[in-house]
Amino acid sequence: MKLFFLLIVSYFYLFADAHIFVYHRFEDKRHFSTNTSIEHLKKQFEYFKNNNYKVVALSKIIYNINHHIPIPDNWVALTIDDGYKSFYQYGLPIFKQYNYPFSLYVYVEATKKHYGDYMNWDQIKEASKYGEIGLHSYSHPHLLNLTNQEIYQDTKKAYDIFVKNLGFKPKSYAYPYGEYNSKVQNVLKKFNFDAILNQSTGSINNLTDTQDIFRIALTGKVNLIDKLKYKTLQTTWIEPKYFPKSGVLKSIIAKVDPKIKKAKLYITGLGWSDIKVKNGIINQNINKYLPNSRTRIIIGRNYYHISTQIITKIKRKKNVKQHI
Ligand SMILES: [Zn+2]
Repeated sequence: MKLFFLLIVSYFYLFADAHIFVYHRFEDKRHFSTNTSIEHLKKQFEYFKNNNYKVVALSKIIYNINHHIPIPDNWVALTIDDGYKSFYQYGLPIFKQYNYPFSLYVYVEATKKHYGDYMNWDQIKEASKYGEIGLHSYSHPHLLNLTNQEIYQDTKKAYDIFVKNLGFKPKSYAYPYGEYNSKVQNVLKKFNFDAILNQSTGSINNLTDTQDIFRIALTGKVNLIDKLKYKTLQTTWIEPKYFPKSGVLKSIIAKVDPKIKKAKLYITGLGWSDIKVKNGIINQNINKYLPNSRTRIIIGRNYYHISTQIITKIKRKKNVKQHI
């Protein structure tokens, strides 16, 4: 019955895709690639306002997914990673001016230890009047290089300090550097976050896994109109699940809509290619050495209707028994 309902929903809302964007720093010219100038932020907000886009709280989108309520494709949710002071100083006043909600992800150690660029607890509390506040780890680690136990400990520490200082629980989590795999996902499941966000280009619809939400960065030199074109291609990824130990990617195997007869494939360092789809199955031999330790693989109907998978080389291995 549930599957039948999902099929109905997917049929009607196949092309309804909301977008979740991520910001980092505001009006901070020292860091071009992670910065958004106030001028750009205002232009983006004007574009939303004048083109019938509705900026909603992330929790509203999650509620709709959990209750099988359609997500209109003019919905947009805005998120901010790290909790930089520049958000408090330059970004927040603009969000308030437009009355746009947001989700702010706190790098707990930086706030706790008063690292120079970061908001303090009072500023985060003030921001929580206008938006939702979530976790962005304790020590901002590369989670893939940690043992399960270390991932758990980092998250637990962040969680407890967050609750102690803000007086409420974080409902969502954003991966540091957007890095994760199924091992990281399994550890984070223990915290029952309503939503977990990555940092790969994509969109969100009623079939989205709330524990694996795509976000598009609106930083540096970015074209908002272009980014709003992205739609989710429903895909079941079978291979690869992890970065290959040998460094050689043997093949890509995935399931897509059987109506699709050909698709586009992108692999970091290898670029785009056209591939065939047979009865909804992609089974493409690659046999190429992956030049980048972080490799993005995209399957698309075209350049915008896509599904993304990121595999990252694990840099440190420990011989520690993993209980968690
Ligand atoms: Zn971060």
